[in-house]
Parts: sequence; structure tokens; C-alpha cells
Amino acid sequence: MLPDTIRYFLSKRGKLAKSITEAGGFIKSSDSVNRPDVQLHMLPLLFDDSGRDLKLMSNPGYSVHVCVLRPKSSGNVTITSADPFAAPEIDYNFFADPDDCKAMVDGIRQARRILAAKAFDDYRGEELHPGADRQSDEQIIEKVKEKVGLVYHPVGTCKMGTDRMAVVDPQLRVHGLEGLRVVDASIMPRLISGNTNAPTIAIAEKAADMILEKAEGCDI
Ligand SMILES: Cc1cc2nc3c(=O)[nH]c(=O)nc-3n(C[C@H](O)[C@H](O)[C@H](O)COP(=O)(O)OP(=O)(O)OC[C@H]3O[C@@H](n4cnc5c(N)ncnc54)[C@H](O)[C@@H]3O)c2cc1C
Repeated sequence: MLPDTIRYFLSKRGKLAKSITEAGGFIKSSDSVNRPDVQLHMLPLLFDDSGRDLKLMSNPGYSVHVCVLRPKSSGNVTITSADPFAAPEIDYNFFADPDDCKAMVDGIRQARRILAAKAFDDYRGEELHPGADRQSDEQIIEKVKEKVGLVYHPVGTCKMGTDRMAVVDPQLRVHGLEGLRVVDASIMPRLISGNTNAPTIAIAEKAADMILEKAEGCDI
């Protein structure tokens, strides 16, 4: 690690100059879906517990992260106290919907198929998770539930819309309040099919236009 650190500081090259996600892709988990429902992130290192498992990471290896796009399960954020500084309770409610389990299991099978390619023959080691001995749907999903992690794209806690659960209207104004808008990833009614940073910037650009148009006397 020290030589890598020195190399990075001297030349901005080497392992530390690389992105943690070297490759990725959007795939269909099976032929029964009509558009990609799984995103793969491919990492040139052994990655577990959101990178907290440094012991594992110090060994050579590679990982593929399988992410279910557009999950049907939705969770809750609950206020726990009148104290605004008290942390809320967050329940992601992962895999409550059986369709999410199916997409994940099928996605893992696709990732296994990719990693079984001849090009990996010289590098392949033992499969750590879910583990080669886990082949049935039940065995795979059991391990997934134990190891589940995030790609940090939660949305929807202040969803835009006009139904009972909507927090903001289509102009991002909070229902029932004057002079307050929410402009961030939380207004997305559902998770989009990919990473959330660029769409959040698009939401902000659109909101800036709406606010400026209102300021110029146009009530939208
Ligand atoms: C580890 C990680 C990796 C990610 N990687 C990617 C990626 O590779 N690609 C991608 O597209 N997306 C990625 N995302 C998701 C992306 O960062 C978010 O979707 C996006 O930043 C959401 O924007 P936001 O404005 O809703 O919230 P944020 O970006 O979280 O902005 C909220 C802001 O509010 C500020 N704030 C909080 N409380 C207060 C307060 N009380 N007063 C004043 N300010 C406050 C915070 O400091 C912060 O600046 C990643 C997220 C994480 C956590």
C-alpha cells in the first residue's frame, strides 16, 4: 500500500489513480424482461460491507456487485423524536416484493455466467458470495439478505405527485405549505434505472427554471 501511495503522490498514477468501479453494465436478468433490470458494477478488488472489510480487501481478487434496478419494495423513514437532531429510523425493507428477489437471483446467475468466461480462467478464485455451493433460488436469496448493501441511491421520501402519499406537487412545492419547495433526489416518485446524481442535477436545473419563471410573474 505504501509504494502505491507514494506513486500516486509523485505521479498521480498507479492503483490509487483508478476508479473503484472499473467497468459496469446494464443487463436483463432473464429473457422474460423487456429491458435491463439489473446493473452490474465490476471492481478490481475484493469488496464487502461497503468497503469496510479491509482485511478481505487486502487480498487479491475482483468483485461484481449486482443491483436490482426499479425495485418494487419500498421502505420507510420514521421520525423517532420531537428533537430535530435525533436520527430517524430508516427501514429499507429490501426484498419485500418477490419480484425483486427473482431479479436479484437471476442477476446473480447472469454475473456468474459472465465470470465463467474463458478470459477469467487465469484469475478466477473461489466464489465468496453467495458461494458456489449455493445454487437454488432459496440458497442464493438467503445469502443476499445476509450480505445486502447499497449503491447509495435512495429516493422517494418526499415524492412528487398528487396522490395521498405525495409530499410535493409537480412544481416541487410542498402540499399544504406556502413558500417551500423540495429540490433533491427525494422527490423522485420511484427509483430510476441507474445512478441518481445526474437526474438530481436535472431536477435542480428544472426547479431553478420554475422558480425563475415564477419570479418573472409566471405562476408555475
Ligand atoms: C457513497 C456514495 C456514492 C455515490 N456514487 C454515485 C455515483 O457514482 N453516481 C451517481 O450518479 N450517484 C452516486 N451517488 C448518489 C448521489 O450522490 C445522490 O443521488 C445525490 O447526491 C443526491 O443529491 P441530493 O441533492 O438529493 O442530496 P445530497 O447530495 O446528499 O445533498 C444534500 C446536501 O444537504 C446538505 N445538508 C444536510 N443537512 C443540512 C442542514 N441541516 N442544513 C444545510 N445543509 C444540509 C448536505 O451537506 C448536502 O450537501 C452516491 C452516493 C453515495 C452516498
